[in-house]
Amino acid sequence: MNQHTDLAIHGGAKTVTRTFPWPIFDESEVQAVMQIVQSGAWGNPDCKGEVEAFEKEFAAYCGTRYAVSCVNGSVSLRLALIACGVKPGDEVIVPPYTFIATASTVIEANCVPVFVDIDPDTYNISPEAIKAAITERTRVIIPVHFGGQACDMDRIMDIARRHSLRVIEDAAHAHGAEYKGRKLGSIGDIGSFSFQSSKNLTSGEGGIVVTNDEQLYQMMASLRNVGRMEGGQWYDHYNPGCNYRITPIQAVLLSHQLKRLEEQTRTRNSNGLYLNKLLSTIDGVTPLPRGFGDSLHSYHLYIFKYDKTQFGGVPKDEFVAMLAAEGVPCFKGYPHPLYRQPLFQQKNFMCYAIPDEVDYSSVFCPVAEQACSEEAVWILQHAMLGTREDMESFARAIFKIQEAVRRVPTPAAL
Ligand SMILES: *Cc1c(COP(=O)(O)O)cnc(C)c1O
Repeated sequence: MNQHTDLAIHGGAKTVTRTFPWPIFDESEVQAVMQIVQSGAWGNPDCKGEVEAFEKEFAAYCGTRYAVSCVNGSVSLRLALIACGVKPGDEVIVPPYTFIATASTVIEANCVPVFVDIDPDTYNISPEAIKAAITERTRVIIPVHFGGQACDMDRIMDIARRHSLRVIEDAAHAHGAEYKGRKLGSIGDIGSFSFQSSKNLTSGEGGIVVTNDEQLYQMMASLRNVGRMEGGQWYDHYNPGCNYRITPIQAVLLSHQLKRLEEQTRTRNSNGLYLNKLLSTIDGVTPLPRGFGDSLHSYHLYIFKYDKTQFGGVPKDEFVAMLAAEGVPCFKGYPHPLYRQPLFQQKNFMCYAIPDEVDYSSVFCPVAEQACSEEAVWILQHAMLGTREDMESFARAIFKIQEAVRRVPTPAAL
């Protein structure tokens, strides 16, 4: 007999029938790109013109003095690390619940990623765990504002200042989000953003760093443009950089997309608050609490904790498949914390100067493990741009699954 026949995964009607477009654009983006195409000025080796114009707009939006755009949000982390003056074997503290770039760029800077656990409430890096991991080799902390929720920046900056460490905010999820009234990315020494196609501000690919420090800015701008320096000649190369430039086509797309960002962020934020309220009425789903009250949250990911005991023992992956079938744009997230990647477990460090004694075989962060395997369910940012009715339909889809699996428990023997 077919179980749970009203569930969409078993052929029943979907709860959410609309789709959620991303990216969002209109004729103004099309015209702007067409103008560049028709001008024939497709490149921009000086990073002036449209590229510089966008950098100024983004820096102003974040409330920083400088911004340097580059090809993606991984390279932006690499530029930031190198500009911080790290040396081979230096340690960089990172969370394990994040995209690979947060840690792999540390290897690419000849440094050692030190994974410390996340906070069980916010899934952001734990300040206590940072403190416990500091050694005389530590140089940099990379907090990730996971899903668009601010890390505890006061405490992180305080720890950093006490130990003379640099802070690079990985704000790849956090365009437009705030911490106590300041834009994320503008609080540490450097903020790093991605414009990859899934991100809240996108040009398909791209990245940017922001800073208030003129020396860091000059170095990152030089590294981004084959080691050239402002005021230097075309064939004067001072630093070991590379060609990490974006094109004017990306820059004009970003300038137009940036005009939409504040309103989109406010929509996601208020939908997130509303969905929190709705989900609090369903047993076994617990939205991550808002760490800093009404600080603007960018909800690159709307995250809730799933408790299978309230869903007839259905494992998380199966629940997420059911929810996706109901039409909710969702994902089970990272299958395991970053330190489990072959890169770290097999020490595939190739040409990079990672000390031989570095060993990840016994690293274990219980909170991140639990988030990956059992708890975390992500609803994706473009869905958070829907209406209040859409949020209600997401909650209804979850409730429908709960009703179905409770009514007909999956027989263990079948
Ligand atoms: C997307 C992302 C990046 C950078 O990604 P790119 O694809 O290189 O632009 C860095 N950190 C986090 C947490 C990310 O999600």
